[in-house]
Amino acid sequence: MSECEEGERLAELCRVAVSLGAEDARVIEAKEVVVGNWVRLKCQYGCDGYGRSLACPPFSPTPEEFSRVLGEYRHAILVRIEPPDLSEFSLFCHDLMLRLEREAFLRGHYKAFALATDGCPYCEECNLESCIHPEKLRPSMEGCGIDVFATAAKAGYKIGVCKGRDAKPSFYGLLLVE
Ligand code: SF4
Repeated sequence: MSECEEGERLAELCRVAVSLGAEDARVIEAKEVVVGNWVRLKCQYGCDGYGRSLACPPFSPTPEEFSRVLGEYRHAILVRIEPPDLSEFSLFCHDLMLRLEREAFLRGHYKAFALATDGCPYCEECNLESCIHPEKLRPSMEGCGIDVFATAAKAGYKIGVCKGRDAKPSFYGLLLVE
């Protein structure tokens, strides 16, 4: 496949992401995804999702494991999401990313793998042992050590910390694709 055809196939996935409800989506090189050990530390100390679902540490891949996986991909689609209802942001992001992964797979991107944000939203309480919806379980980006802030900024998104409760946050998902 020519570079041009490949670029068009990836651009098509960005359009699919938007049609599924994303605010925007951009193709980046997989090596532009920033991973740091300190991100995991933030999960462990200060996040109330730590240890509460199989999508998060200590159950999700470590930054080291995830970096190795990342090395086996050439591209990623970074998806910016502004959920219509903030109280359901996690479910909205996970559903959107799962549907995007499926669309990519059906288009021939057989290695497509989605990461969302936050813990797994599909059970009221995770049993933390054996997932009852394994087809829906995907790790959170930050839980794998992805520095979402730096990755989004590198992709050209304007991103800043929310300084008050009235600030409207954006969320991100990542689709790894070949
Ligand atoms: S689907 Fe349920 S059991 Fe599986 S990881 Fe999510 S919350 Fe846990």
